Formats: sequence, C-alpha cells, structure tokens
Amino acid sequence: MISLDTGIENVRPNTKKIWHDCLKLIKKKIPAITFNTWFAPINPIKHENDILLLELPSLLFLEWVTGRYSSVITSSVEEVLGSKTKIEYVTMDEKFQDDLFTSALRTQTEKADAEKKERTLEIELKKENGIKKNEPTVLSNLNPKYTFENFIKGEGNQLARAAAGAISDNPGGTSFNPFFIYGGVGLGKTHLIQAIGNKIKNDDPKKRVIYVSSDRFTVEFVESIQANKANDFSNFYRSMDVLIIDDVQFLTGKEKTQDLFFHIFNALHQSGRQIILSSDKPPKDLKGMDDRLISRFNWGLNADIQPPDLETRIAILTKKSKDYGMDISQDILEFIATNIKSNIRELEGCLIKILADASLTSKEISIELAKKTVREISTSKKVDISIELITKIVCEHFNVDVNKVREKTRKKEAVEARQVAMYLSKELTNSSLKTIGLHFGGRDHSTVIHSVNTISELLPTSKLFKEKVDYIKNKIELTCS
Ligand code: ADP
Ligand code: MG
Repeated sequence: MISLDTGIENVRPNTKKIWHDCLKLIKKKIPAITFNTWFAPINPIKHENDILLLELPSLLFLEWVTGRYSSVITSSVEEVLGSKTKIEYVTMDEKFQDDLFTSALRTQTEKADAEKKERTLEIELKKENGIKKNEPTVLSNLNPKYTFENFIKGEGNQLARAAAGAISDNPGGTSFNPFFIYGGVGLGKTHLIQAIGNKIKNDDPKKRVIYVSSDRFTVEFVESIQANKANDFSNFYRSMDVLIIDDVQFLTGKEKTQDLFFHIFNALHQSGRQIILSSDKPPKDLKGMDDRLISRFNWGLNADIQPPDLETRIAILTKKSKDYGMDISQDILEFIATNIKSNIRELEGCLIKILADASLTSKEISIELAKKTVREISTSKKVDISIELITKIVCEHFNVDVNKVREKTRKKEAVEARQVAMYLSKELTNSSLKTIGLHFGGRDHSTVIHSVNTISELLPTSKLFKEKVDYIKNKIELTCS
C-alpha cells in the first residue's frame, strides 16, 4: 500500500491537503492497481488563481493519465475545489527545461531591484567572480531523477561510468577535461552527464554547474544577440565551474555559435573548470564542426556507450519495475530484455505500457501481456512521429516558413522542403500517401509519390544533400525518442 503523502512534503500545506482530498475521491472511483500506478506518482505543485498545477514523471505518463483518466481527475478536483478550477500539468522533464540564461538574468535583476541598486548585469556578473557570498544560486537545469545511484553499470557503459564518477569527485581536477561521451540514442548519455552535475552540486551546492542542450544553447545565443546581450550571455557561461552541453552534434554547421563556444571552452579550460559534452558520434565524425573544436574535444577523454548486453538489460528492467512498484516475474523481465535490445528508453517504455495495460484491465501482468506489448512496440515504432513534427523540423533546416510548404507555392526552396518533408513522412510514419498529401495542402497521392521518388533519386547523387537529409532524420528521431 502506498502512502498518500509520498513525495509531496515540500509543497505548501494547502496544496498538499487539496490534492490529498482529491486523491481520496479518485481512489474510490478506480481500481487499486490503477490508482497506485498512475496517481501515486503525481505531485501537486501549486494551487493559485484557480489553477491546480500537477507534476507527472514523464510525457508518457502524462499522455496516459490525461488520455484515460482526465474525467476522473476533473470530477474529483471539482468536488474539492469547485468547477472554476483549471487543471494544468507539467512533466518532470519540462520543469527542468527552463530558459537558463533568461532565468539567470531574471534572478539577478530581481535581486538588484530588491536591493534598490542600479547596477548593470555586467557589473553584477563581474563582481560575482570575486564575491561568492551573495551570489545568487544558478539554476542548474539538472533533472534530479538522473543520479549515479539509479544508473545501472554494464559492459557497454563501464568506461564512461567510471570516468563520470572520477570527474564528479574532482571536477576540473582530472585529465578527463573535456569529458566527451558518445553513443546512440537512448543509451544513457543524458542520464550520465546529468548524474555528474547532480553529484557535484550535491557535494557542494555553491558550485556553479549548468546543463544545457546544444539546441537550447544556440537559441539563447541568438536571442541574446537580438537583445544586445551577447556579452552577458558569454560571461554567464564563462562564470561556470562545470559546463555540461548535451548533444553537441547539433552545433555542426552553426559557425557563429561554434565560434562563441570555442571562446567559452578556452576560458573555462584554461582556468581548470570542468567541461562535459555528449554527442551521437565521436569527435572525428562530426562533419561541419570547426577543426579547432574537434581537436579540443580530443584533449581530455572520449568514452563511448554501447548498447547494453542481456544481463544489463535485465538488471535495468528489474530496477525500473521495482521503482514503479510493479511486481513482475523474472521470466517476464527476461522475455522483454531478450526482445528489446537496442535502446534503454524503449525498455522503459515497454515496462510502462505493460503497466498501463495491466492497470486498465485490472489484470495480472502475464507473459501473454508482455508478448503483446513487445509486439506492439516493435511494430509501432514509426507511429509516434507526426507529419507536423517532420514538417516543422524540415522547414527549420531549409529556412522556409511552414505555411509556404503547405500552400501551393512553387518557389524553389518551398518545393524542395516540401518534397523532403513528404519523403520523410513516408519513411518515418505509417501514414498513407493520401494522408500525407492532405497534410501538404490537400495534394493527391500521385504528387506524394512523385516527391518521394524525386528525393530517393537525388539522395545517391549528392553527398551533401544526403548528409543534410540524414541529419534532419536523425534530429526528428531524437526529438521523438
Ligand atoms: P541518451 O541521452 O543517450 O539518448 P538517456 O540518458 O536519455 O539516453 O536515457 C534514456 C532513458 O534510459 C532514461 O530514462 C535513462 O534514465 C535510462 N537509462 C539509460 N541508461 C541507463 C542505465 N545504465 N541505468 C538505468 N537507466 C538508464
Ligand atoms: Mg540525450
């Protein structure tokens, strides 16, 4: 039996009490297994202005809960708070995706306001290096769920895990600087590099640690230029003790951002601060990355993460099922681990789906259920990627307005982007030609076939074009994984 109070200690008593009352009502309306699975892990964050904000562990969770139980939640919340209340959801992952630089600016500005001191941010930032005492805490953007404790060691991640441990004990003080970790999707890169950050921050909360994806870094850099704050942006990152940048492969081709990163890298490295990077491939394969950066990536330690072997996959499933409070027999875990091989994220996804099915039908978790779910996962891999998402990412890379691709315009750039988007929609989703055509301004299926053929023929003839399409494809898959 779970306690209703789990994990909601830090919230205002009022919100906690409200949610507690809601849970009591919800509990009466659904089977116990459903309740334990889907409602125990929900945390109330706040209740303000008729909005009740609830936090869920992950997007998958959010989709399941809101997809199946939103009426149960709404009716129970209404009973407790009245019908005016709106329920909003946030996932743990989202909560830690705040706009780092801007929030840092905000914190600093608010502080300055409060003290009624009219100092510019630049002076603040300079002062900070000398005066550590009054320093505002930096939002690290680390997700506390990524720790060393819940990272399972295995052959595939041995070196990376060992190096990560050494770095977290002595950031900037080992020869592993930078620490460059690479490997395929869903193998634990983000988990491991954030675990380093969490450990360092835990050991010494004063340490300035920041985690940022390379995309976020790029966007914020561009915004800082537009706001005439590029210097502040650079100084902010230069003031870190530990800089963690995830998925640096997305910096390829972005010269200005690379140039800025190069200078930040040098400043940090020279003063013995720790740099931690992740990528989907080793430095030498990062086409479109400045040679100066590639050579620096090789200064410290490169460690790859390989897909987990069977024993590790079983260990991971055992640990995760315990975390979810599930009681699954060893046979079933072994069955899943034998059949889902490539990716730890997929292993987790499978477990959650099984849990979902079992709780929906109030059935025991059986080997039949496991088989069915594994089958679904292996055949439905393509379903999650939407045509909208493909169109959006393609347009970003072709620098074309999404609407132009959907309209009937014949402008060269729009035509090319449209054809690539159609091609990738065919490749990455299970949508019919008709559906794909509908998404692109109601074109008929022969137009889609023509586009798909055009791109298929073009790909083998141009290396550059192929690289671009591969890059976009990789990005779409990464966004959806
Ligand atoms: P990547 O960044 O390489 O794409 P992630 O770090 O996001 O992969 O990992 C995907 C999921 O798998 C995460 O939920 C993570 O916690 C989990 N995971 C990955 N490796 C391990 C591991 N060795 N032990 C436990 N969980 C893991
Ligand atoms: Mg990652």
